[in-house]
Amino acid sequence: MRFIAQWFDRGDALDDQVRRTLVRKLYAQPITAAVGTLIAVISTCVAASVSQEAWLYISCMVLSFIAMSRVWLVFRLPPDDRVSTSKLEHRYAIGAVAYATVLGSFTGLAIVLGTEPGVQALMLVNAIGYSVGVCARNAGRPAIALSQLSLTALPLVLAALWVGTLAYLAMAIIVLLLVGTMWSIVHNLFQTLRSAIGAAETSAHLAERMQVLARTDVVTGLANRAGLNHAMAERMPTLSDVGALALFWLDLDRFKEVNDLLGHPVGDQVLSEVAKRLRESAPAGATIARFGGDEFIVMCPVDDRHACERLASQVLDNVTRPMRIDDERLEVPCSMGIAILPEDAVDLDSLMQAADLALYHAKVGGKNHSRFFEKSMSRNLVRRREIEAELRAAIQRDELSIFFQPIIDLESGRIRTFEALVRWFHPVKGELKPDEFIPVAEETGVIVTLGNWITAQAARAAVHWPEDVTVAVNLSPLQIKAPGAALGILSALREAGLDPSRLELEVTERLFLDDDFATANFINDLSAAGVQFALDDFGTGYSSLGSINKFPFSKIKIDRSFVSGPNVGRKSQAIIRAVAEMGTQLGMEIVAEGIETVDQVGTVKASGCTLGQGYYFSRAVPDYLAAMLLAQERETAGLRATG
Ligand code: C2E
Ligand code: CA
Ligand code: CA
Repeated sequence: MRFIAQWFDRGDALDDQVRRTLVRKLYAQPITAAVGTLIAVISTCVAASVSQEAWLYISCMVLSFIAMSRVWLVFRLPPDDRVSTSKLEHRYAIGAVAYATVLGSFTGLAIVLGTEPGVQALMLVNAIGYSVGVCARNAGRPAIALSQLSLTALPLVLAALWVGTLAYLAMAIIVLLLVGTMWSIVHNLFQTLRSAIGAAETSAHLAERMQVLARTDVVTGLANRAGLNHAMAERMPTLSDVGALALFWLDLDRFKEVNDLLGHPVGDQVLSEVAKRLRESAPAGATIARFGGDEFIVMCPVDDRHACERLASQVLDNVTRPMRIDDERLEVPCSMGIAILPEDAVDLDSLMQAADLALYHAKVGGKNHSRFFEKSMSRNLVRRREIEAELRAAIQRDELSIFFQPIIDLESGRIRTFEALVRWFHPVKGELKPDEFIPVAEETGVIVTLGNWITAQAARAAVHWPEDVTVAVNLSPLQIKAPGAALGILSALREAGLDPSRLELEVTERLFLDDDFATANFINDLSAAGVQFALDDFGTGYSSLGSINKFPFSKIKIDRSFVSGPNVGRKSQAIIRAVAEMGTQLGMEIVAEGIETVDQVGTVKASGCTLGQGYYFSRAVPDYLAAMLLAQERETAGLRATG
C-alpha cells in the first residue's frame, strides 16, 4: 500500500493548489461514476450467470463490492478542505487500482475459461471502454489513469497470449498498441490541464493579491477606506449576533504642524507609530483603518457602554503617549468620537455619521479628548463645516456688513447708543444669522480677525454721529483672550478718530467662567482709556453678582427672554425690578432688551429700566439708515425746541 501511495506522490512537481484542484476533479461528477459502476456490475453479473463459472461469480462479487465502496466514497467527499490532498488521492488510487485489477482479471478469466463468444465480447467491450474512459476522465492524475489502463489491459493481453490463436494474438497486439497510444494521449491531456489550471490559479492568486493591496494603506499597513468598507460589508450579516458594535473615530490634532515643520517622512513615521499603538490597544478581531490623512477608525464588538468607555480611554491614552521619532520627542494629541450600534445608530452608515459628529464635537470642545455621540449633537454639521470653510473668505469678499440697532432713553425717547450687529449676506445661502456663524467663528478662531474688523467698521460709522451718541460692540471671550486684544481695539479707535469714551463693549457672563489675568487686564486697560463696558444678556448665564462688582460695568442689559416672549410674567417682572434696583444703587444703567410692544415699554419703565432696545423702536439697520434716524430725531427735537 505504502509503495503505491509513494508512487502516486512522485513525479509531477505540482503547485499544491493545482494538485488539489486536479485531485478534487477525480471525485467530480459522482453520477457518471455511479452509472459506470452500474454497467460494470450488470455486465459481470450477466457474464457470470450465462457462463456459470465459479471464478466469475467470485470475481463478480468482489468487483461489485469494490465498485459500490468507491461510489459511496465519491458521494461522501467532504465539501471543504478537511481532508488532505494526498489522503484523497491515495484513497481514490487504491480503489481505482483494485477495481481495474479485478475487472481486467475478470475479462482475462472469461477468455482463459473459454466462455461463449457473447460473454467474452461483453467483457471486452466493458474492459476496453472502461480503460479508455478513465484515461480521459482521470488524465489530471496520470499515474492513476495509466495504472487503471494498464491493470485492466494486462490480464487481457496475457489471456490472449495464453490462448495463442491468431485472432487472439492480433487482439493482444491491438490492446498493447491501444495502451501505448493512450499513454501518450494521457500525457498530453495532463500537460494541457496542468497549464490551464496553473494559469487560472495564478491569475486568481494575483487578483486576490491586488485586491488586498487595494484595500491596504501603504504607509501604515492598516486597512484603507476601501478596506474599511469591505470589512464593514463583511460584518453586516453577523451584526445581529454581536451585542454591540463600537466605532471609534480618531483624528490627530496637530498632524499638519508635524508635517509642515518636520517633513513628510517624519509625518509618515508618526502615522505608522499611531497605527502600531492602535493595533496594540484594540481588542482582537477589531477592524482598524486609516481613513484619510490623519484620521483612524477602530471598529469592534463591545459588551456594553462601560466596556466601550474603558476601551476608549485605553486607546486614547496609548495613542497620545509621547513618541520618539528620529531622536525627537513628539507629542501628538488626538481627538476621538465614539458611537455605538444599536444605541446610537440603526446601521453602519448612521454609525459612521454619529461617530463623525461626536468627533467634531470633541474637536471644537477643546481637542485631545473623546466624546460619545449624544442625540442632542447638532444635526446641521454639514452646514457648520461649510460656514467654517467660507467665513474667512467672506470678510475679504465683502459679504459681511454691520447693522445698527438703536438703544433708546426711555425717559426722553432719544437714541443714546447704537449696538453694532454683524450680518452675513451669503450669495447662495442668503442672510445668515450671527447666532449661526459667530459660534463657528469662535470655535475656529476666526472671531479675532472678524471682531477686529467689526470694531473698526463700527468706529468708522460712529465718527459721523453726534458726540453724545455712543456705539456698542459685542465682544466674544475668545477675542479678549487673544494677545494684544486691548491694543487692537485702541488702534481701531485711533484710526477711525473715535474718542474711546464713545465705545461700549458688550460682554457676557461667559467671560467670567474662568477668571484669569488676561480678562482683568483687558477690561482694566480699556476702562482706563475711557472705554465703557456693558454686561450683556444678563440673567441667562452663570450669573455671578460678584463679577458685576468686580468690573467697572456702566450698563446691565437684561436679556430679552425677561421682556418679551412666551415666558414673560410676574416672575420676570420681579427680576427686572430687582436688577434695576441694584443697578441704581451701583450707579449703573439698566437696558431692557427685546422690547416689541408699547405695553412692554410701560412695564420695563415702571420696573426701573432706564434704557430700552427692541423691534418696537427699530430693528438693526444699515449705517446710512442709522444716520437718517439720528438726523430725523435731531430735526424733531429742533422743531420741538423752536416750536
Ligand atoms: P445680542 O448681543 O443679545 O444682540 C441682540 C439680538 O437681539 C440681535 O440679534 C437683535 O437683532 C435681536 N433683537 C433686537 N431687538 C429684538 C426684539 O425686539 N425681539 C427679538 N426677538 N430680538 C431682538 P442678532 O443680530 O441676530 O444677534 C444675535 C447675537 O449674535 C447677539 O445677541 C450677539 O450675541 C451675537 N452677535 C451679533 N453681532 C455680533 C458681533 O458683531 N460680535 C459678536 N461677538 N457677537 C455678535
Ligand atoms: Ca449685545
Ligand atoms: Ca443681548
